[in-house]
Amino acid sequence: QDFGIPEMLNQLGIKSENMGLCTGTQWFETQGTILTSSSPIDGHPIAKIHQASSSDYIHMVDKALQAFHDWRRTPAPKRGDIVRKIGNALREEKENLAKLISLEMGKIYQESLGEVQEMIDICDFAVGLSRQLYGYTMQSERPGHRLLDQYHPLGVVGIISAFNFPMAVWAWNTMIALVCGDVCVWKPSSKVPLCAIAVHHAIEKVLKDNKVTEGVVNLIVAPSSEIGDLMAEDKRISLISITGSTQVGKKVSQKVGARLGRTIAELGGNNAIIVTQTADLQLAIPAIVFGAVGTTGQRCTSTRRLIIHDSIYSEVIDMLKKAYQQIKLKIGHPLDPKTIVGPLIDDEATELYKDTIRTAQEQGCSILFGNKVITSGIPDKGHYVLPTIIEAQNHLPIVQHESFVPVLYLMKYQQFEEAISMHNDVPQGLSSSIFSRDMQECETFISGIGSDCGIANVNIGTSGAEIGGAFGGEKETGGGRESGSDAWKAYMRQQTNTINWSKDLPLAQGIQFEL
Ligand code: NAD
Repeated sequence: QDFGIPEMLNQLGIKSENMGLCTGTQWFETQGTILTSSSPIDGHPIAKIHQASSSDYIHMVDKALQAFHDWRRTPAPKRGDIVRKIGNALREEKENLAKLISLEMGKIYQESLGEVQEMIDICDFAVGLSRQLYGYTMQSERPGHRLLDQYHPLGVVGIISAFNFPMAVWAWNTMIALVCGDVCVWKPSSKVPLCAIAVHHAIEKVLKDNKVTEGVVNLIVAPSSEIGDLMAEDKRISLISITGSTQVGKKVSQKVGARLGRTIAELGGNNAIIVTQTADLQLAIPAIVFGAVGTTGQRCTSTRRLIIHDSIYSEVIDMLKKAYQQIKLKIGHPLDPKTIVGPLIDDEATELYKDTIRTAQEQGCSILFGNKVITSGIPDKGHYVLPTIIEAQNHLPIVQHESFVPVLYLMKYQQFEEAISMHNDVPQGLSSSIFSRDMQECETFISGIGSDCGIANVNIGTSGAEIGGAFGGEKETGGGRESGSDAWKAYMRQQTNTINWSKDLPLAQGIQFEL
């Protein structure tokens, strides 16, 4: 069964060989090496991409800078109108784009549809935002004076994205940046370049029909070893938004920091759910399972640790094992509607899965379920593994580390304070949840003495955030915020204005300065 893949590739403009450099309205022949994108479903090559070189990069950023001078003059609601049309173009291609995500990244079709929907939702959000971008008016201490702040466009925004959300991360950044008056340069993960090429094909007509200046929305497919450093060190890029592992994020942030550039760092998580003795397990179990095995454990918000009250520990284990047994039968081709767990991204990820389990055993953990690379009943040469449950202790090095595979660590607690302290005692701080019907516990969890994460949920899981909220985390997760709420402020420069409409010149703080 081909699941309509050839038609989808054709409709999205993906050819056997593709150009990897686009300035929104133009595609370019490039000087770099050839990259082959293969599907994690069966290792089959999908298409080739001509990658860009360093000189292509320099040329493209020149174009972006020129385009910025036009784009920032376009009124924000007019910029919003372009984003509205981009959203409509993505709506029209929703099914095709989702199918491509499943083909190139491996997540199941339902989750891929969700990812495209996120792009559409952020467009809608950005359209509304384009008529807001509010500054404050403050009361001046001086008579006849007015004090206000405004937000102005920042410049070129460089986006470096991870493989696991091959389209949505671009949209979260780009749509907000566009209404803010910025222009964007996107370097996608080399594991999923066709997703990036396809969204640029999908929006090209909107940009052309609306005469958007060439260079407002740019794509560069290139090896990170060459272009990553160039982007980080390039003073012409005002803001780098990096989504990826903590290791890579640290390197990039240090380079951008050395030139005092801005960064939004969206890095690794080590997300936990506390299951208290009053938890409604009918809610908790499906939320835990979706959080732990969804996207085959390859979400930054995947549930990695479960902190369970002693009194219900065995019951939770039994329920989880039952649920994981069901999943066993539903691992396979991500475009098959029966599948709920697709493949891992590549061989390296399968090795990481095996290493993680082996290391956990060496550190004294016991395997409660899983620990199996699947070789039969799945497409040949794919990277399929059985989601795994491990009984562990929070302080172990393997538990302290984010392993980007479907491995869930279970641990128990007795006192609520102990649960919170175990919860926070990891280097990362992205997403967190509590399942409880005790109001004091729930409120404590989301208070200043509770979860130290950027996202703290009550009676829902750790993954699957809505675009309306600000997204990001603390500590080694990097501190950046994207998407909704007031995350847009990171994409603009704030300016404070004091206007004197009196006939005097009083100084602030009452300073007397007589000439
Ligand atoms: P990765 O760190 O391997 O790569 C991320 C991006 O950085 C890719 O585009 C890669 O090409 C690029 N890169 C690699 N080396 C670079 C360098 N030296 N300079 C500049 N760029 C470089 O991450 P991945 O495997 O693609 O994604 C998984 C990781 O991303 C996980 O740790 C996950 O938690 C994290 N992630 C975080 C969020 C979030 O919002 N917090 C969202 C998605 C993924």
